Amino acid sequence: MTKQDFTDIKKLLTTEKNIVIVTHKNPDGDAIGSSLGLYHFLKTYHQHVLVIVPNDYPSFLKWMPGHEHILKHDTQTAICDSKIDKADIIFTLDFNAFHRTGQMEKPLENSKALKVMIDHHQEPDSYAKYTYSDVRMSSTSEMIYHFMDHLDALDHITPEIATCLYTGIMTDTGSFRFSSTTSLTHQVIAHLIEAGAQNSDIHNHVFDSNSYNRLQLLGCALNNLKVIPESRAAYITLSQEELNKYNFKKGDTEGIVNYGLSLENVVLAAIFIEDKQEGIVKISLRSEGHFSVNDMARKHFNGGGHINAAGGKSHLSLKDTVEKFISILPEYNKALNNE
Ligand code: 5GP
Ligand code: MN
Repeated sequence: MTKQDFTDIKKLLTTEKNIVIVTHKNPDGDAIGSSLGLYHFLKTYHQHVLVIVPNDYPSFLKWMPGHEHILKHDTQTAICDSKIDKADIIFTLDFNAFHRTGQMEKPLENSKALKVMIDHHQEPDSYAKYTYSDVRMSSTSEMIYHFMDHLDALDHITPEIATCLYTGIMTDTGSFRFSSTTSLTHQVIAHLIEAGAQNSDIHNHVFDSNSYNRLQLLGCALNNLKVIPESRAAYITLSQEELNKYNFKKGDTEGIVNYGLSLENVVLAAIFIEDKQEGIVKISLRSEGHFSVNDMARKHFNGGGHINAAGGKSHLSLKDTVEKFISILPEYNKALNNE
């Protein structure tokens, strides 16, 4: 995006608009953090703003300032479709292809609103009038901060905005430890703390709200952990039966894949989670170093993401999906052993 583009957007905000902010299906901390951060920011321009998400998000995010105003497309379809239809501007955050919003794909395609994309995923589609895309960024939430900076509006940051953006950056960087975390990320974080983000409280909200069932499910997942030493890979499975046994709730499996990666000598980790209702197996892939799980997810599992964190899905059974994963590993053995 050029300097002129930012100036144009700033001008757009000088008059009242109907603005809708949307994010991807199964929203994570960065999706909700960036959306609510931008929501509070646009409110400082007295805009009519609404956040619409495709479906529900984990309860460990349901404390964030403004979350109670979020509309969910799957359960509030008519009102959401009407708001999308009437929007003057739609911001699309933390994704870069409409199909990532599931059922919202068609209404977004049909909408005449001016679109602004803010996102850090690879290979963005070209649906937006303004595309602010940067794959080097730790998170979309960090990009919202830079977006405000480009509008010369850092003085608009309130404690609410700071809290939302801090949460998004923290969750998307694995608490500031992934390689996408830069000195600039830390400078942004420092400013957000100065602006009122209570870092320790935020950490407690997100990470210290485990249910007993969630920890039992984690125990089950760790029991299922398998290692394939010749490929320096590890994987975990969770069947629908196991999820039911521990009364699975959205968000309960968040972060479990990283336990595989924490093993000595493992550079590729996967988790396969059966979803009988959708008839799919949801796959999360993580890697260390230069090995691109984005490429693997795109090529074999109808997905994508980033170099070190990607996801996808399979329509095979859980057992067959795991067999497929094991069968494709030899093609990557050389790369995995060079890490
Ligand atoms: P997670 O494994 O936490 O669900 O996702 C990790 C990363 O991969 C996220 O950046 C997410 O946007 C991306 N991702 C997850 N699932 C999919 C998918 O089905 N398709 C695409 N294109 N990206 C995905
Ligand atoms: Mn993100």
